[in-house]
Amino acid sequence: MKPILDSSRDVDKSDWANRKRPGRYIKWLSLSLMSFMALMVLIIYEARWVFPEIQTYFSQPGNLTGQQLATRSRHYLQDAQARLLDMPGPEERAAAITDIELAYGLFDVDVYHQQYDCTSPSLGVLDETVTSLESDSVLPVVLARELLDPIACLTRIEMGQLDRRAEAINTFSERTRWHNQVLIYTSLLIFVFGLLFWWLHERQLRRTEKATQETLRWMGRAMRDPLTGIGNRSALHQDVMQQAQQLLGLVLVDIDFFKQYNDTMGHPAGDALLRNLVLLIADALPEEATLYRLGGDEFAALLPCEDIDALGRYCQQLHQEVQRSAFSHAAHPDKKQVTLSIGATCFMPSRVGFPRAYEAADNALYQVKTAGRDDWQIIAVA
Ligand code: GH3
Ligand code: MG
Repeated sequence: MKPILDSSRDVDKSDWANRKRPGRYIKWLSLSLMSFMALMVLIIYEARWVFPEIQTYFSQPGNLTGQQLATRSRHYLQDAQARLLDMPGPEERAAAITDIELAYGLFDVDVYHQQYDCTSPSLGVLDETVTSLESDSVLPVVLARELLDPIACLTRIEMGQLDRRAEAINTFSERTRWHNQVLIYTSLLIFVFGLLFWWLHERQLRRTEKATQETLRWMGRAMRDPLTGIGNRSALHQDVMQQAQQLLGLVLVDIDFFKQYNDTMGHPAGDALLRNLVLLIADALPEEATLYRLGGDEFAALLPCEDIDALGRYCQQLHQEVQRSAFSHAAHPDKKQVTLSIGATCFMPSRVGFPRAYEAADNALYQVKTAGRDDWQIIAVA
């Protein structure tokens, strides 16, 4: 009996080729997920940026508070100046001194000392003015004029501080605009990349699914006998392995004088007989039986085996069914109709192993052949 080409090794190879691909899916998928995570991080970072920045800009003492102190201080000095110009009595002079001292307190700020060089001289003038007022040594009108320089200095500070605030606001606006643009364009870019990676991942997934389907179809074809549509020897081996713990009946069937059938009836008729016999064997054996073509004119059936007697009844049934069908075989030496030789055995794959079971069934078949064919025989596994 010729062994049927076992192409399952090729199947394994293509299977391995496919198995390499999931690595690529994971890469695309993780790249896609990483893109979306980067997008989240960017949004969170940008969202966190805005509020602390606003606080930083507007809480700087040099920006807003500084300007307000200078304004207040100037108002006190102008009040004092007005009092001094109005021929002040002792009370008015005292009030003017208080105004100047209050103005002094608001004027004497670190930021002003550091950034405006008129600050220290102006404070000196205020000191001298208070001393003169207290000692009443200088005319109030003259002192009122002396206050002009500190007032001018405070005005300069106010203007300077207002400019700085405007500058801070402009810088802040520009930076905010820049951050917005970065956020928009970067998130768009990351989003597009995320979608692209996701699409690549989906495409790879579809390709693998297709390849897997193709492999399964191919494996299905590789396990089938194309002439009769039943399983081949590889399918028989696979099915035996899958039922390793069950008691199985293995029935081998060989057509008697099939070569002569072909020679007289022609090869196409021989093919038709092979197909018809498959239907006949399937009908004769129980429904759970699975049929295989092992090659040439040899078939096998795998079925549950309750005991040897039951298996014998199935063999008998098959033998009678062929006789009853009476397919014509003009070249048959004596019967003139198609006859079968049948050999069978009962085994549990996990205990006995398929090669020994096959050998027993084949010996049984051989005995039938040598005893004159057209019969059945069961041999227990040794
Ligand atoms: P035996 O009683 O000893 O079994 O005699 P046999 O003629 O059946 O012997 P053998 O097993 O040597 O012959 C099998 C024949 O089956 C030989 C070959 O021409 C034929 N055969 C093999 N495959 C096919 C096939 O696919 N179609 C057809 N029509 N014939 C085939
Ligand atoms: Mg034969």
